[in-house]
Amino acid sequence: MHKHNKHSKGYDFEVLVANSPELETFVFTNSHGKSTIDFANPKAVKSLNTALLTLYYAVSYWEFPDDHLCPPIPGRVEYIHLLNDLLVASGLREDVTVLDIGTGATCIYPLLGQAEYGWRFIATEIDKGAYKNAQKIINKNGLDEVITLRFQNNPQWILNDEILPSERVAASMCNPPFYKNETEALEETKRKLKGLGKNTDTIVRNFSGTAQELWYPGGEKAFLHNYLYQSSQLKKNCFWYTSLVSKKDHVKSMETSLKKLGATKIKKLELSLGNKISRVMAWTFLSDKEQRDWNS
Ligand code: SAH
Repeated sequence: MHKHNKHSKGYDFEVLVANSPELETFVFTNSHGKSTIDFANPKAVKSLNTALLTLYYAVSYWEFPDDHLCPPIPGRVEYIHLLNDLLVASGLREDVTVLDIGTGATCIYPLLGQAEYGWRFIATEIDKGAYKNAQKIINKNGLDEVITLRFQNNPQWILNDEILPSERVAASMCNPPFYKNETEALEETKRKLKGLGKNTDTIVRNFSGTAQELWYPGGEKAFLHNYLYQSSQLKKNCFWYTSLVSKKDHVKSMETSLKKLGATKIKKLELSLGNKISRVMAWTFLSDKEQRDWNS
């Protein structure tokens, strides 16, 4: 994990419980004598994440319906730190605005990026329920002046209408939906739950409400290529376009497309989370001179 990631050494449950007593019901001592929670229990995970956000990121309100994605904090904040390194290396430290594409019901990246580096955010979302919830989180935390939420009506549009022709942002970030259709998303979720020894009946009943968060026609690959193409139509509006890429196989086709579309630099950043390695792709269309002159 990144050296600035506050969770690289595990969780201090004593401190967390002292600050968020409601977490206590989920904490137990495992066979190695260490405090932990049941990571297969969504309620326990949600309670831990809420406690982390309260203690380390000054978030006072983080409610969302149980059927929405509950993002693990260490992995989400890792992307924030990687992105910061990229921005600092390009001389982008002050007055940073970041576009978060598909912020979800939890508004997680804007909350973390604002707390860690004071970035301003434009956050987008296509799902009405998620959008409404994210707006409530922004308002209740008093962040409406630094996080602007925009509703996207057209699921095919990733940047169109989100960055206005007159706007410039230092970076974009995105955790794309990765399944091809609702059935694939449901089957994969059931498979994971079964692997954890969990009953899958509830998920089947609740699934349709949240499925949209997880899938996109054509899956991650189609989403990413749409994103690349749309970024090439807004070459001067964003210094670094970036995205998480969950499938390694997509990297090569992204590089080929980006070269065709005129990207001047492409970077592959490793996002390492202990036993799991993922990646963030970053690309820019700016010339060396435009990069140097960005702040002037
Ligand atoms: N950023 C959150 C949610 C990621 S899930 C997290 O990391 O936990 C992907 C999100 O993208 C979903 O909330 C989905 O509704 C949204 N989404 C899908 N297509 C979109 C589009 N074209 N524009 C904006 N958001 C989109």
